Amino acid sequence: MIIQLHKNIKAEDLQIILNTLETHKYSVTKVKTQFENYLICIGKQDVDIRIIGHLNGVKDIHRVSDNYKLVSSKWKTENTKVDLGDDVVIGNGYHGLMAGPCSIESEEQVSKIVGHLIKNDIKIMRGGVYKPRSSPYAFRGLGIEGLKMMHEQCKPHNIKIITEVMQASQIKEMMGYVDIFQVGARNSQNYNLLDALGEIDKPVMIKRGISGTIDELLNSAEYIFSKGNEKLLLCERGIRTFETMYRNTFDINAIQILKDKSHLPVIADPSHGIGIREYVPKLALASLVAGADGIIYEVHDKPEEALSDGQQTLNFIESETLAKNIQRIKALL
Ligand code: PEP
Ligand code: MN
Repeated sequence: MIIQLHKNIKAEDLQIILNTLETHKYSVTKVKTQFENYLICIGKQDVDIRIIGHLNGVKDIHRVSDNYKLVSSKWKTENTKVDLGDDVVIGNGYHGLMAGPCSIESEEQVSKIVGHLIKNDIKIMRGGVYKPRSSPYAFRGLGIEGLKMMHEQCKPHNIKIITEVMQASQIKEMMGYVDIFQVGARNSQNYNLLDALGEIDKPVMIKRGISGTIDELLNSAEYIFSKGNEKLLLCERGIRTFETMYRNTFDINAIQILKDKSHLPVIADPSHGIGIREYVPKLALASLVAGADGIIYEVHDKPEEALSDGQQTLNFIESETLAKNIQRIKALL
């Protein structure tokens, strides 16, 4: 059960609510986010919620049977939108397009890609500076200097930045340079990181784990929300299955299921989803038709020379065609 409290609830009214919940053997978690005050109540299902609903200070009350609560669509009928400022909004009818290299490599590379984004009216740049790599000998990113490099060139053009944070200790230094923190597939269930991201006021996009279920993704998002951060995006990026013909199995089904189960915006990542460059554009368009609120894909001026994920990275010509086709599909939808 979720109880939304009035913002200026009196302490004595809150106490009466808590006492009533205790009488009915609910265990209660208080959640205060950027926007609302909630009580998450876990307990018996047979209590008549009107007993609590009429109490002073209660704004609304909802039964939510899902094991995740705050991210569930069962209580929030209007879809969430995440506002990045400068008219860049994702969700509830607003579509977010994010593109950029797998990794930030050099000033020259960033400059070329920023030029490409401007030309194609793409308002969010992706680019990893802390790279989770399967091999410890592979390029692991430029770190904070790479992020500063990206920021310096994006900021004058109001291009928003999404980049991966790998551990809680990195959040503070990254904070001033990031518009969306990305939680990568390998960290999808790093609960300490999720807790820490719940304590900041900055949007977070959380990717589905490599072998993660949809339910696990929603629960990971619940970690962040329940610590106080409602500015969340979910990302389908493919999962590991028995199929070996491609890098991951892009689970397009998940887009519809996530849209149904949650009010949060859903972003599709076809680059990691299939891992094969030539198929990325069609999957991007298919995800839009399947209901995605946004697409994130990898682009590089010379994919063949990219320091990571070149095999799934579009060149500028392919990216330009995709960006145009995305506009066409959006117009059709
Ligand atoms: C990435 O976005 O470059 C990345 C490493 O993604 P994932 O966590 O989905 O593998
Ligand atoms: Mn990548």
